Amino acid sequence: MNTTDSKTIILEGAPAAKSIVDDLSQKIKKYIAAGKRKPGLAVLLVGNDEASEVYVKNKILACNEIGIHSHLQRFDSNADKAKIIKALSELNSDDTIDGILLQLPLPSHLPSEEILSAISPNKDVDGLHPYNLGLLFAARIGLQPCTPKGIMALLAYYQIPIKGKHAVVVGRSNLVGKPVAAMLLQKDATVTICHSRTVNLPAICKEADILVVAAGQKQLVDKNWIKPGACIIDVGIHRQTDSNSKTKIVGDVVFDEVKSIAGHITPVPGGVGKMTVAMLMANTVAAYEQHLGIQ
Ligand code: NAD
Repeated sequence: MNTTDSKTIILEGAPAAKSIVDDLSQKIKKYIAAGKRKPGLAVLLVGNDEASEVYVKNKILACNEIGIHSHLQRFDSNADKAKIIKALSELNSDDTIDGILLQLPLPSHLPSEEILSAISPNKDVDGLHPYNLGLLFAARIGLQPCTPKGIMALLAYYQIPIKGKHAVVVGRSNLVGKPVAAMLLQKDATVTICHSRTVNLPAICKEADILVVAAGQKQLVDKNWIKPGACIIDVGIHRQTDSNSKTKIVGDVVFDEVKSIAGHITPVPGGVGKMTVAMLMANTVAAYEQHLGIQ
């Protein structure tokens, strides 16, 4: 845990992610020692989007580090829907594959929702199949989206109280906004979901005890939007090039301003992103345990 001059606690993802990944690594070692096969994750990458290449590389590295067998399948950026669905269908019936991840976003000619629905729900380690999203909203056990699950694990690791708090979520995507709102609700927060058509967004954010910003808008939230002492979770990831042509990663929140007012704040990079990868590993191991009938 890190603090700034004003005693704001910086919610670093690394220690929280490490504790999760270390536990998973121990579990996998135990299973292998007992004669079981390795967990298997298939990653499908369509096209050559620069950011997606980096995310996929990090996911495969994480698999290698903890003993998950990973299998990368690449498709040209002009690949058609039928080809990807055929590959998914083969992976669905492959007994050595426990998890299937389709790296998003897909090229614009491809129907993401339809293709995601072709992944078997019990291998859907990104938790984006409508079946798994339905389980989440019904507060039942299923595979849950990695970034929202990572946010909840980060809050738990740093023992941020949720019950009875006002949580404001900015963003209503299936990937982040809606699922994290459902998870906060399950932990007894009073949740407000905001989006691009919300009126008086800064005033609503200023009422938040916990503010999750997943708008995908670079540096949207400044210090005037923050209740003193609030916990700020910044999900945004944006590349920014300065006047010296140096690139850095920034979030949806103006970190340097907001950190002097917030009680807790995630850094970008190094906050939520680390947790997303750890949760992908956790979901893959959970799917593996389910396939092998391990309790
Ligand atoms: P998205 O574009 O699918 O959804 C953005 C949401 O924000 C929409 O619901 C939209 O209504 C809302 N929105 C847009 N502009 C707004 C505004 N000005 N005011 C209020 N609401 C606004 O994006 P997403 O997939 O949910 O991702 C959001 C951000 O999180 C992106 O920057 C993305 O790169 C990042 N992300 C990070 C991780 C991670 O691991 N850290 C994972 C997933 C996404």
